[in-house]
Amino acid sequence: ALDWMSGGQEPPPSAELRPEIPHPARMYDYYLGGKDNFPADRAAADQVLSISPLVRISARANRAFLQRAVRTLAEQGVRQFLDIGTGIPSAGNTHEIAQAVDPAAKVAYLDNDPIVLVHGRALLAGARPGTVSVLQADLRDPKAILADPSVRELLDLEQPVALQLFAILHFIDDADDPYGIVRTLVDALPSGSHLALSHATGDFAPPQEAAKGPAAYRSASAQLSMRSREQVLRFFDGLELLEPGLVTAPLWRPDQAPQDTDHEVAIWAGVARKP
Ligand code: SAH
Repeated sequence: ALDWMSGGQEPPPSAELRPEIPHPARMYDYYLGGKDNFPADRAAADQVLSISPLVRISARANRAFLQRAVRTLAEQGVRQFLDIGTGIPSAGNTHEIAQAVDPAAKVAYLDNDPIVLVHGRALLAGARPGTVSVLQADLRDPKAILADPSVRELLDLEQPVALQLFAILHFIDDADDPYGIVRTLVDALPSGSHLALSHATGDFAPPQEAAKGPAAYRSASAQLSMRSREQVLRFFDGLELLEPGLVTAPLWRPDQAPQDTDHEVAIWAGVARKP
């Protein structure tokens, strides 16, 4: 993995950014109103938005859930965060929220998009030294993540860790064994660790409409696999879901009074504790 904290390696050549291929990190950035995206990303994202304008609402609801989940975990005493599928830094990143609770909280960020790493430098520059790392890694190789020297240098895997998989598992298709990946990661963490995740779903769309989302990602560097509530629930096998269980993102411990449409936002969200 590339570790820019140790300063040893140069960023990957810009060609690796492949701006002509839509990438989910940059499409998501566009949904959120960010500026770190290219024409191909915007074209693919606009195609998704034309199918369902709710995608933008879902993206924002997901981001807000991430922030409430991290705050909740930090308030419960979690001090180590393994955030896989970090995304392009946006307002309220994991370390900012966790460190508002305890400045010593540590966050290892991992993403497979080189552009996330480029922006990760800026993120590191603003963080307390020694508390944050940003690595290029692929969730499909969980053993490599667990063995990565810079992950192990930052996080003590003998102590509880919050494993964060926000809006990433829907980019892992069944052929890559998403359940096995999550199991490998969770098995490596001690009791008292947590799994926090969110996942796109077609549960609220008519079947024909639901199929269009994955179609719009066909040209992108990752395919979209939406999953039902039951399928998402399986990621938490063997774990204890915190209240209120697996719900749509806006309904997970909301800060504001819920709106009528919140129960149909197409993102399942949950946080669980490893007993
Ligand atoms: N977790 C953030 C960003 C979600 S966007 C949030 O919820 O706000 C999804 C992110 O997952 C993107 O940054 C994308 O680059 C990353 N991603 C997709 N597939 C991945 C994989 N196989 N390994 C690592 N990161 C991946």
